[in-house]
Amino acid sequence: RIVYVNGEFLPEESATVSIFDRGFLFADGVYEVSPVLKGQMFDNDGHLVRLQRSLSELRISLPMPVDEIVAIQNELIERNRLQEGMIYLQVTRGAADRDFAFPKDAKPSIVLFTQTLSILDSPKAKKGLSVITVPDIRWSRRDIKTVGLLAQSLAKQAALDEGADDAWMVQDGFVTEGSSNNAFIVTQDGKIITRNLSNDILHGITRKAVLALVEREGLLLEERAFTPEEAYEAAEAFSTSATGFVMPVVKIDGRILHNGAPGPVSVRLRGLYIEAAMALIDA
Ligand code: PMP
Repeated sequence: RIVYVNGEFLPEESATVSIFDRGFLFADGVYEVSPVLKGQMFDNDGHLVRLQRSLSELRISLPMPVDEIVAIQNELIERNRLQEGMIYLQVTRGAADRDFAFPKDAKPSIVLFTQTLSILDSPKAKKGLSVITVPDIRWSRRDIKTVGLLAQSLAKQAALDEGADDAWMVQDGFVTEGSSNNAFIVTQDGKIITRNLSNDILHGITRKAVLALVEREGLLLEERAFTPEEAYEAAEAFSTSATGFVMPVVKIDGRILHNGAPGPVSVRLRGLYIEAAMALIDA
């Protein structure tokens, strides 16, 4: 694989960053994951807008103009002949002697790489996910997409250790979001519920696109927090993310939803999302 690091395209074996990089020492950096289908990105503009917002919240400067980043992303897709998967982009405050205070003259580091994934033919999407709930032990600025992902990693591993696929995190009795996705339920009377935007969750790019489809289709939507108990009683559930798209959830803390098969609203929204993505790519 060819990767990009601070101005150079290199084979992954030769790509290095400093051990003094503040991304490594302090998780002082942010990232984005843009989906690729048929060798093309889509919704990348949204990801790059969020990148700039995350950076400005942390007072890290963008190391190059956005159009140069897009050119690098496209070159990586081409050089690696990536058809389906994702492109990862990370910007950190850069390398400096270890000190909690921001360094005066550090240059931000930028790293990009591609990863092949089976998105459209995901077996998990056909079967539906089993999730458990875990306490949300993260910091209070989850709207910033930082590389400090240890709480999410612990949550995901706890799920796998219990034989589940993913974890939904819970704060003050309400679901915030999934370990790496936004969480949705569909009530027995057909309302789609997902947590409202705030600093408690990441403002998902896929969430936004799916909500636009929900509105277009005239489906009922409530943006509000919901409890795990409400989710146990839901007609169906699903999660959204850049690489999972719309992922049906069929089990929550051992309670089976929709007889253990992906529900009609989840399946329909997944189909509509894929259709919309394909339309963007073919345009
Ligand atoms: N919430 C969290 C905690 C995430 O890590 C992610 C994916 N990185 C999402 C939500 C989904 O965001 P997006 O749709 O932009 O991938």
